[in-house]
Amino acid sequence: MDEKIKNPAPARAAVEEAGKVALKDLDVQGITALVVSLAEKPFRARQIAEWLFQHNVSSFEQMTNLPKAFRDKLRQHALIDTLSPAYEQRSQTDGTRKFLFRLRDGLKIESVLMFDEERVTLCISTQVGCALDCRFCATGLMGLQRHLTPGEIIDQVLLSERIAGVRITNLVVMGMGEPLHNYDNLMQALSVLTSPQGFALSKKRVVVSTSGLVAKIERLIAEGRKYRLAISLNATTDAMRSKLMPVNQRWPISELLAAARNYADASKTRITIEYVLLDGMNDTPEDARRLMKLVTGLRCKVNLIPYNTTYREFARPAEERILRFYREMKNCPVPVTIRWSKGRDIDAACGQLITKEQGT
Ligand code: SAH
Ligand code: SF4
Repeated sequence: MDEKIKNPAPARAAVEEAGKVALKDLDVQGITALVVSLAEKPFRARQIAEWLFQHNVSSFEQMTNLPKAFRDKLRQHALIDTLSPAYEQRSQTDGTRKFLFRLRDGLKIESVLMFDEERVTLCISTQVGCALDCRFCATGLMGLQRHLTPGEIIDQVLLSERIAGVRITNLVVMGMGEPLHNYDNLMQALSVLTSPQGFALSKKRVVVSTSGLVAKIERLIAEGRKYRLAISLNATTDAMRSKLMPVNQRWPISELLAAARNYADASKTRITIEYVLLDGMNDTPEDARRLMKLVTGLRCKVNLIPYNTTYREFARPAEERILRFYREMKNCPVPVTIRWSKGRDIDAACGQLITKEQGT
């Protein structure tokens, strides 16, 4: 049974905070400019960043090495948290926790906290909804409502840590939205989260998942980003992939996998190929053999993800079908794993809880 916990915290009153700047939306230069505009010395910016990202404080009072008068001024002009907790579901089977966060304009997003041996992994969202319209995806159904700001992306990490009282060791950008569609805000957020002066996560422990925006993958390469990349392939023919994922009409499989190869070479990392198994759509033995061919020669691993809901014409394949697909790939030259999803007793696939709440 699910344990559903209503969070009693009231919605943050956006009106009270009108005109204030969210500190976590700013980069180092931005915080420095704010500090200077409030007639303080630039080095205070570094102190503020330490309080925000290393000590994860929720109030200006906690910033004890700042003069009191400066803290008061900051309180008038700036705010610390961009999100407030709205709801939580906790899995009774594996401890997975799903948080629903309220943004200051009242919209909501989801983050999922997962525990796996010594790893504590948070799955974060980058947009409210998504424009990419993949036919099987609950978030796609919402359409794109808006991009998240850098502060809203960062705060999912900071608030989840505060609520759960844990240290997050790994980040997967696989929640609501297409991360590379919100490229600039995501890159600003990830810079803070991986900077030694910021949240100090290793870049190797950050996975960005994309449905295949090839131009943005090329931009990641050009900018020398070193995050791990996951690609949602989900089909082995262009006909099927275009049906499931309209983005394939713009960038077909061959172009996507060429970009994946370039990324793996440039970043010297191994790509993850994600493949959601949809009953009767993309889960035949021929699909398994074609998938094996597509990934041969690519520095990657394959994650088979049994679809975890029933929705429109889509269903999860029966277990023996899933295992048959897996066995068909036994000679695959790259590692293949089945991701039996975490938190199956809660609505842990991103977009599911929110669409349920909204009754869509
Ligand atoms: N937009 C990005 C990241 C978010 S979706 C992307 O598409 O990669 C993260 C992953 O969840 C994708 O691989 C997507 O194919 C998969 N997914 C979406 N809905 C799912 C569901 N109901 N069950 C299992 N996987 C799902
Ligand atoms: Fe967007 Fe990813 Fe869902 Fe496709 S699978 S609609 S890209 S969130």
